[in-house]
Amino acid sequence: MNPKTLERVLSAPRLPTLPAVAMRVIELTERRDVSFREIADTIQNDQGLAAKILRTVNSSFYGLPKKCATINQAMVALGLNAVKTLALGFSLVKVIKDGASEGFDYEDYWRRGVFTAVGARAIAKATRAADPEEVFLGGLLQDIGVIALFQALDQEYLRVLAAAKGDHRALVKTEIRMLEVQHPDIGAMLAQRWKLPESLVAQIKYHERPTAAPVQHTRLIRCVGLANIAADLLSQVRPGENLARFNTYCDQWFDFPRDSAEALLTEITEGSREVAQLLKVSIGGKPPVEEILSAASERLVSMSLEQEHQSEELARENEQLHRAAVTDSLTGAANRRRFNEAVADSFKRAAADQSLMAIAFMDVDKFKPVNDTHGHQVGDAVLVEIASRLCRHFEPRGGIVCRYGGEEFAVILDGLGRTEAGRLAEEFRALQAAEPVDVSGCAVDVQTLSVTVSIGIAAYEPQTAHAFARAEQLVQAADQAVYAAKGSGRNCVRIFNPRPLKLSA
Ligand code: GH3
Ligand code: MG
Ligand code: MG
Repeated sequence: MNPKTLERVLSAPRLPTLPAVAMRVIELTERRDVSFREIADTIQNDQGLAAKILRTVNSSFYGLPKKCATINQAMVALGLNAVKTLALGFSLVKVIKDGASEGFDYEDYWRRGVFTAVGARAIAKATRAADPEEVFLGGLLQDIGVIALFQALDQEYLRVLAAAKGDHRALVKTEIRMLEVQHPDIGAMLAQRWKLPESLVAQIKYHERPTAAPVQHTRLIRCVGLANIAADLLSQVRPGENLARFNTYCDQWFDFPRDSAEALLTEITEGSREVAQLLKVSIGGKPPVEEILSAASERLVSMSLEQEHQSEELARENEQLHRAAVTDSLTGAANRRRFNEAVADSFKRAAADQSLMAIAFMDVDKFKPVNDTHGHQVGDAVLVEIASRLCRHFEPRGGIVCRYGGEEFAVILDGLGRTEAGRLAEEFRALQAAEPVDVSGCAVDVQTLSVTVSIGIAAYEPQTAHAFARAEQLVQAADQAVYAAKGSGRNCVRIFNPRPLKLSA
């Protein structure tokens, strides 16, 4: 938080102050030994407030069977908390109305406050997760920080609100970005100043991030949190996303049946109209719940299609990335990394099943002179052509062709022993020797080049398994066989023959 801005806000002369009656009511209700009479007398000191409370208590919202003539009777009929809620609610409305000035969308503010208050109350009642009166007040008070910021910073805060474009969840981020303070913190500080009970302070502080709330307040804040989502949904802010969030949290937080959404939203709509009338605040027209829900469901469906589409795209991208990571960029054959993985896999399988596998290693003969005489480009073309011939020859037999390095290739042949692998390799060697490589595309003085290869074979076979405890030993053996082929004059195939196991007498 930016301490300078914070100081500017908290010391602003126009900051909302709670009327003395409301402060006194809070103070009294916090005391254990307080009598109804004391509280009633305090409220009745403010005749206007007392009249408003009585009118509300006797309205259809509470549906009392008998009308109450005094605050004392109201407390007996509805309980201390309900009357406290009304005293605070009306005081809050007065504070905000008294400080009202141009440019601020009060209707939007109250819509959100009243929807959330009524929603939280309904959720608390239905789930018995918290005291309905407490969360009603929490909902009504949650955004007092917004009022404080507007009254303290005026035009500067209107710019923040404009940047958030009516999206309350975006507001906190925008506040932090533009002011380095956020309204839930400012509101909580103000509430502390007003000496509001800790549970209310917590609801104000955590209404935007219920999961961060201290555990003793979790249930209260979840009621307000879910009601906030309902309020967004009713205000048609990102309806698809909010319907999904609403369903998720109904389930995760309260084990609340999904199909309660519509009933709850209707209850909030009806209740909010009454409460707004009683508090004499404007919350705009009645939201068409059915329409909102059906539009939100449609949006939700198309969102999940989008997500599916996105995950398919993601999977494709991942596959491409993976392929690039295991492919040699010049020849398109598998690279050394893929070779190491594939050899390890094949070796493991062969050792476990006592089956066969072979590696054919090959090195291009006298390749350095090709580069030296005709240039690197011709050398590259030769490597590309050899790789392609290797694939054509070995892949139909299940071989995995890899570029091991420079002008060295390796083929992994699952299921083949020395003899079979040697025969395949010899076929390739002969083909390669018989067919010159076409380098006419390289625009050099030659059209074709005769290039031969030397091949070394090593195989894992059950009868000689003792020679190869690890895959690397097999690779080494194939490399030794290539070396032997070079030593025998090149353009030939040599097979590594492991020493037979000496049987002790
Ligand atoms: P030998 O018959 O004994 O294998 O002789 P050689 O000339 O093929 O062997 P040497 O290992 O001395 O030379 C390999 C050459 O391969 C050296 C290097 O410049 C060339 N080379 C390695 N990678 C590439 C490449 O990607 N492109 C090209 N054009 N040349 C490469
Ligand atoms: Mg070499
Ligand atoms: Mg070579």
